[in-house]
This record gives sequence, structure tokens and C-alpha cells, in this order.
Amino acid sequence: MELVESILTNNPCWKAGKKIQVKGLMLHSVGCPQQSAQVFVKKWNNPSSSRACVHAFIDGSTGTVYQTLPWEHRGWHAGGAANNTHIGVEMCEPSCIRYTGGAGFVCSDREAALRVVKCTYDAAVELFAMLCGRYGLDPQEEGVIISHKEGYDRKIASGHADPDHLWSGLSTGYTMDGFRGSVSALMGAGYKNPSETPKEDGAVCPGDKIRLLPEAVYYSGKQIPDWVLSDIWIVKSLEGNRAVIDYNESGSHAICSPVNVKYLRKI
Ligand SMILES: [Zn+2]
Repeated sequence: MELVESILTNNPCWKAGKKIQVKGLMLHSVGCPQQSAQVFVKKWNNPSSSRACVHAFIDGSTGTVYQTLPWEHRGWHAGGAANNTHIGVEMCEPSCIRYTGGAGFVCSDREAALRVVKCTYDAAVELFAMLCGRYGLDPQEEGVIISHKEGYDRKIASGHADPDHLWSGLSTGYTMDGFRGSVSALMGAGYKNPSETPKEDGAVCPGDKIRLLPEAVYYSGKQIPDWVLSDIWIVKSLEGNRAVIDYNESGSHAICSPVNVKYLRKI
């Protein structure tokens, strides 16, 4: 997954500067035939942008994630109380569909549309797994990962059908239950909800933020470059004394590298 930071500093939502404690993740799709994330990034980085702002857009052609708000910034994506708890991520939609009213659409090239939907789905699974790890969220827990539509059903979001309408309208076979399952599978069997895991003081758990000790080397014995030693990393999984660190704190780099747990210091 490629992550590009493109914070929308000209959007009124950024200027509102509110923070949230992240309790969940909401999946959206843009609701118009536009597969370029950069088009949205450009359009929304504007003081006169409509009163909407999300944390990320996923490009329909490349799967690149454009992070448009810091993850703990309060977004304006749900049109309801979910803005206070959930990170909002938009998947771009295929350019070969045409909306016919409401959530109904027609599609002129199903194969092309399926490629776009798969591309955004796969990237969203990776992004959501990364964010669940980072915030200690269990992807299968009730209400943690929800679509905009499910948010509406729970009365914490406005009346939208995304992205369920896109997946069902194209008969992709994708569902939110399947999506949650994919996120869980990617996080691996080693993942445990930190709140359910009794831990000793100072013991490192998946999802923890760590620094590497200056003398740290990779599990293979290879040297760790200085830029890795100087950053803060999130623990992805742990088996015995072998920890895998994946994303750095800002989410800009993923190294997915094993390190002996003795070299990690929890922060
Ligand atoms: Zn939405």
C-alpha cells in the first residue's frame, strides 16, 4: 500500500482543528464516477469546499492512499455522530458508471469497473488493518468497522448507501462482513485486542508504539538503517521473541520487518 500525505490545510474542517479519540473506521465510496483521488484532493483543499472532509481517498486506478487529514483529526464525513469517533475513508468509484438517481447507476464497462473496485477494496483492507493495529481496534467487534450505510442504519450517519450500493450494483460479491473478515485475516491470527490481553508492565503487544534501541539489529542480524532507528514504529505482530514492526507512527513508511523483542522499547 502506498500512502501519500496530502493534508487539506485549506479545508475549513482542517481549520476547525478538533481531535477525536479513534474508536472505529468508516468506509465510504465517493458517489460519483471519478476514479482519480487527486481530483478530490485538489477540489477539497479549498476554503470554499463544501462542508465535508475525510481522512483519506483511495485512488481507483492505483490504489494509492492519499491521507487528507491527520488520523486523529475530527472529520466531516458521516453527517452524524460517527464524526466524533470514526476515521472516514473514501474509495474512488469507476469512471465508467453513470448515476441514474439516488444510489442507482448503470455501467458501460463492467470489467473495467470491477478492476477499479478490486483495487480500492484491496487498498482499503490494508489501510484498515494498519489503522486497527495502530489504534488497538478489533475489526470484528460490533460497530468498529462500518460502512456509511451501516452508520445510517445505526443512526450515527446521514442517509447514504455507500459503498454497499456500489458493490451490490456491480454484483461484485463484496460485502461489509467480507471486508471485516479480510481486514482480520490480514492482521493475522497473532492479533489480539489489546484491551482483552492481560499484559505485564512494559511488555510489548501488537498495536503498540515503540522505539528501537540504538544497538538494535534486524532479526536476521542485518543492520538497521539510522532513519528506521530514529522513527517511532507500530508493532504488527508478535510470536515468542520475534516482533514484526510495520508502519511508522505517521503512516508514511511500511517496512514489515522482524526484530527481536528485546530491542523494542514501548512508548
Ligand atoms: Zn459516504
